[in-house]
Amino acid sequence: MINCLFCKIIAGDIPAEKIFEDENTFVFLDIGPVSKGHMLVIPKNHAENLTEGSVEDACSLMATVHKIAPDVMRGLGATGYNIGMNHGKDAGQEVFHTHIHLMPRYEKDSRLFVKFQPSKEELHEVAKKIREVLS
Ligand code: 5GP
Ligand code: ZN
Repeated sequence: MINCLFCKIIAGDIPAEKIFEDENTFVFLDIGPVSKGHMLVIPKNHAENLTEGSVEDACSLMATVHKIAPDVMRGLGATGYNIGMNHGKDAGQEVFHTHIHLMPRYEKDSRLFVKFQPSKEELHEVAKKIREVLS
């Protein structure tokens, strides 16, 4: 999809801190995280949302969460995580390419869903820690 931000990230036309990739899915850090290591798990096939895409892509997304979440937690010292999806603009969806938010949580975490703005360097450090465990 030519004008889709996340398709451009998959293609490498827009930089992102990539965490993981397989045949059907792609994972990268959210630039406006609500927790350290907040990442987006997306299908490589463009679809606006979960039910516009195929059920196979929906299953692949959850398979990727299942595969990487324990390593993400280990890499960051997280003790839990939230997953969530905003489906449609009235639910807060801003980017119309299906994505699961995977948000690691920590002891004494605020548990809030308030975005912060880490520097590029901070995002890079977080991504590095996760990639070391995943590879
Ligand atoms: P939504 O509100 O659609 O569920 O979530 C979209 C997410 O994409 C937001 O959490 C936002 O911070 C993130 N986001 C928006 N633009 C970019 C970008 O250019 N790069 C990255 N890595 N994340 C982005
Ligand atoms: Zn797209």
